[in-house]
Amino acid sequence: MCPFHNDKGPSLSVSPDKQLFHCFGCGAAGNTIGFIMKIRKCEFKDALFYLAERAGIDINFDDTTDKNKEQKERLYKINIEAARFFIIT
Ligand SMILES: [Zn+2]
Repeated sequence: MCPFHNDKGPSLSVSPDKQLFHCFGCGAAGNTIGFIMKIRKCEFKDALFYLAERAGIDINFDDTTDKNKEQKERLYKINIEAARFFIIT
């Protein structure tokens, strides 16, 4: 199910690990956040928050404490949610 062309087949491939998607039908490709940006016509940050909200993940990128590792884990979870988004869309 690809949102970029008229498609009812499983042409869309998503790799949560690589955070990439690719459509074998129309050739659309990019990262998962970019995918949300495209279909929702929103900015990177909005796409991120959209997915985080869906996944029930609290992201606070203004946090000044050293939480790089935790943020990476949260971003990873967000990408998992993005992958689920592809599958159910
Ligand atoms: Zn396509």
